[in-house]
Amino acid sequence: MVLFLTLLLVFVSLGNAASTSRNRLTSGPPIVSEQQTQDWLHLWQKRLHLEDWKIDVKIVRIWDLEQGTLGHIDWSVPHRTATIKVLNPSDYELPKDKIPADMELSIVHELVHLHLSVLPLNKATRGAEEQVVTMLADALVDLEHHPVSTE
Ligand SMILES: [Zn+2]
Repeated sequence: MVLFLTLLLVFVSLGNAASTSRNRLTSGPPIVSEQQTQDWLHLWQKRLHLEDWKIDVKIVRIWDLEQGTLGHIDWSVPHRTATIKVLNPSDYELPKDKIPADMELSIVHELVHLHLSVLPLNKATRGAEEQVVTMLADALVDLEHHPVSTE
């Protein structure tokens, strides 16, 4: 039997990112394409040394995620497979120019969870794990976008 473990990306600090409105679709090209999410996945999968996993990423609507979350990951340790879901830009309430970086952060956050999948699932430490994952993923993406100044 395959045990699927799931962890949620808990909504943290970016304001109210969840929207129940379905009427905010805009015309024109999407803010973030499927290809862009694939590119982020491949980049960070390599950086985090998770190449031995087969990972998919999907852009999903808000009703496909747990309430108050921006992303989700399911994985199977025996199969070394995982699926990451990230929130569709149409359902974000952030300013448009902040959405791509936040979606990248969601992918990195879920990949850090995947590293911790070797640990036994323990409800008592879940909150602490979430804090650690959030801190590490935030630091990694922040470093990517704001390299440390050498001045
Ligand atoms: Zn999380």
